[in-house]
Amino acid sequence: MGNLQEGLDMISIASDRPTVRIAAPGADRAGHAGTAGSTDGPGGPPAVVELDRVSVFYGDHEAVRETSMPIRQRRVTALIGPSGCGKSTILRTMNRMNDLIPSARVTGRVSYHGQDLYAPEVDPIEVRRRIGMVFQKPNPFPKSIYDNVAYGPRVTGMKVGNMDDHVEQALRGAALWDEVKGKLRSNGLALSGGQQQRLCIARTIAVRPEVILMDEPCSALDPIATGRIEELMHELAQHYTIVIVTHNMQQAARVSHYTAFFTAEVDAAGVRHGKLVELNDTGKLFTDPDDKRTEDYITGRFG
Ligand code: ADP
Ligand code: MG
Repeated sequence: MGNLQEGLDMISIASDRPTVRIAAPGADRAGHAGTAGSTDGPGGPPAVVELDRVSVFYGDHEAVRETSMPIRQRRVTALIGPSGCGKSTILRTMNRMNDLIPSARVTGRVSYHGQDLYAPEVDPIEVRRRIGMVFQKPNPFPKSIYDNVAYGPRVTGMKVGNMDDHVEQALRGAALWDEVKGKLRSNGLALSGGQQQRLCIARTIAVRPEVILMDEPCSALDPIATGRIEELMHELAQHYTIVIVTHNMQQAARVSHYTAFFTAEVDAAGVRHGKLVELNDTGKLFTDPDDKRTEDYITGRFG
């Protein structure tokens, strides 16, 4: 996935497209996260991102079929399911990251505060600033810790009062400040894997996104570093809307309010298509799922 991020960065720098303003996020205050599982009543907080019958094709292959789901404000939504069922593909539709894959084509509607994210007047760079992404493998730039965090505000021309304060705030937000405050000029690549991933989170939040997409952000980390990122996710959910892909069901149960279970089904022609089976409150999905296929998967009966 590093190449996607690099592609994005290059486009960010090279972009001379006009910025399209997307409707500002509502001032609605949702309750805070802290315990896994949603205690929201029916409906829950408003959807920030909404997928409506979204299919993604790679060339002729329909990799994911007709996915409809809301991503609710200041909640953590986990996407789970077996490898190849389209979790990363669906995640990438939410900030137009699939634009960077030449063979990928998205149908259906992805909206952000009701606005079609794929409308011609929408600038994908602005979309990715509002809806940031953290990848599986930590991918800091070969620059200082400070410059990694300052990078986004600088290239996007963001107005920040004082860059030192801004960098500190982002590093505090990513629970990394105390570990790096004495060495902001050293190279981000010299940090441990877990610290690098938190640096990438700091880099993402430095441009003040509303939504953070995370694609298996802990799969390259040891259990202690994983625990720190999971704790951090609870804090981040007080301010951000988070979508996390994880192959680890325990992790989904620990960190998320809502869980979406995807599977891959083989059609009559022998072609595999990913499909959303069930989206539910996390507690409910893991204890009393509505769909037999979900139950088979979470109880390990899945083939
Ligand atoms: P998951 O993240 O659930 O493991 P993916 O979204 O990576 O699943 O993949 C879903 C399907 O799309 C798989 O069949 C995969 O081979 C295919 N796919 C993913 N990325 C690409 C790509 N860049 N080009 C072609 N096919 C792809
Ligand atoms: Mg994936």
